[in-house]
Amino acid sequence: MAKFYITTSIPYVNARPHIGHALEFVQADAIARYKKINGHGAFLTTGTDENSLKSVISAQKLGISAEELCRSNSKLFKDMSSAVGLSYDAFVRTSVDKEHMKTVQEFWAKCSESGDIYKKKYGGLYCVGCELFYTEGELIGGLCPEHHTKPEFVEEENYFFRLSKYEKRVMDAIEGNAVQILPQERRAEVINFIKSGLEDFSVSRSVERAHGWGLHVPGDDTQVIYVWFDALVSYLTGAGFSRDKDLFRRLWPADIHVIGKGIVRFHAVYWIAMLMSAGVELPKSILVHGYVTVDGQKMSKSIGNVVDPIAISAKYGQDAVRYYLLKEISTFQDGDFSEKALKDALNNELAGNLGNFINRTFTFIGSRMGGSIKELEMDEGRLVIDEAGKIAAEVDGLMARCQLGMALMKIMEISNIGNRYLQSNEPWKLADVDERAAREVLFACATLCRMIGILVYPFMPGAAERMLGYIGEKPSGYGKAVEIPASFSIKEHGILFKKIE
Ligand SMILES: [Zn+2]
Repeated sequence: MAKFYITTSIPYVNARPHIGHALEFVQADAIARYKKINGHGAFLTTGTDENSLKSVISAQKLGISAEELCRSNSKLFKDMSSAVGLSYDAFVRTSVDKEHMKTVQEFWAKCSESGDIYKKKYGGLYCVGCELFYTEGELIGGLCPEHHTKPEFVEEENYFFRLSKYEKRVMDAIEGNAVQILPQERRAEVINFIKSGLEDFSVSRSVERAHGWGLHVPGDDTQVIYVWFDALVSYLTGAGFSRDKDLFRRLWPADIHVIGKGIVRFHAVYWIAMLMSAGVELPKSILVHGYVTVDGQKMSKSIGNVVDPIAISAKYGQDAVRYYLLKEISTFQDGDFSEKALKDALNNELAGNLGNFINRTFTFIGSRMGGSIKELEMDEGRLVIDEAGKIAAEVDGLMARCQLGMALMKIMEISNIGNRYLQSNEPWKLADVDERAAREVLFACATLCRMIGILVYPFMPGAAERMLGYIGEKPSGYGKAVEIPASFSIKEHGILFKKIE
């Protein structure tokens, strides 16, 4: 059986989900759904990263236990997954998932057997926000480049991972594209980072400094495993590493890890070396998205502009939110979220353009053609279908390269073509003077509606199902989008997208 394995990064649970998390989830989901309908048997893993010191500190501030904080915030991420339509197959909660703990321990043992884990006394500047040691040179004005906070000096005896040993092999994997990094500028960043020299990194913390929170180092109760060493392994847990060897053989190596630009180093360097050490195959590609600002500003609690994806989906609908995030925010670059722009996209592009096209086409077939229409000799209608068919092929190519935003723009071009064709021929008037010509226009338009329904499914699964349901069809592979059915019979249909004032 064909398979395609895709993961999201697993978010920290020290705070509630925001719109940036939603962007990553819908990107991964759109790719997974594209693969699923095109016969690749996609499997998607997501989860929550709970064993961090941040979880303990946030829980203390709230006066609750770390277990409780993780449980309630992990649930919010699950709620967000439903709200934005993330169709996951595995959800790994790193602090409670027994199978994950087993996988981490097995993975640790493999690295240890390779001679890559050793104990050493160490002192360094540590940013709790990043859960990462920084060198002086990496700080900006003495502050963490991500969090703009002062890292604390930490000194203790930890286990280290022999990253330095893998410098050349990791470089070869990235430069040779054995692990493909998209976009190119992120790949270049990784290459520069490796060129600056890879140092061994600490993969454990003392139990005291971790406040007793985290997964124990096998055979050493005084140390817990460094949160990243545990979180990255969740990709293996989801694929059945220690649960189901057959499943794991089918799913691994991962086809795509979808991540944000702040954690490229962990995935493209640390993770690659860890897998080499454990003798596990490398992921095929890493897709890196940018950060999301809100109304041009960085999201922050103090500004009070953190956008809650659950509330926003409830207000505008899952399809509109997915459409907006995937089309208006660049797949690979930073982007800006604005509620006003989301509302405009819903009202103008979805309700106004696409919804209107579908509604007019199906309503006229209902009222003027008795609800059904057969294929007929076409002239201009055929040209319109061919033009749209060419775009459908481009959409397929763009999706294969994970160019989600560009693919969605192309799909909307088909709707534009359909609207222009309807508008210039006015079948509602034409039907009185030339019934055959009116049928040609409506048949071609119905063909375009069906094409859009199939193509748009990875982006707006709910709307696609409704659109196709109006003609008694279900989502299917992109190859079917360019077929011309022998006839259409229109079922009950409602308003596809409701405008919001
Ligand atoms: Zn930081």
